[in-house]
Amino acid sequence: MSYKCPRCGEPVHRGYSRGAQMTAGLIGAAFYAAFGSFVCKKCGKIAKEEFSPEERRKMTNGTILLVIGGLALIGLVIWLWTIS
Ligand SMILES: [Zn+2]
Repeated sequence: MSYKCPRCGEPVHRGYSRGAQMTAGLIGAAFYAAFGSFVCKKCGKIAKEEFSPEERRKMTNGTILLVIGGLALIGLVIWLWTIS
């Protein structure tokens, strides 16, 4: 998933913290990726409101997929826990 910066057209990435990943683990990283803000290398932090409605719709879909994926992962871990 990549989106373009509404200001300069460069690709933006999710605000991502290595520290958050290490402390919260994979699930924490997934939720951080889903709800974190976007950062452009040139312009800095980009508010969601600055993206076009189409891009925002894609983001919402991506967020839902990430949350479903995260829940599926939690379910899988619990399932593996109970069968062992
Ligand atoms: Zn930019």
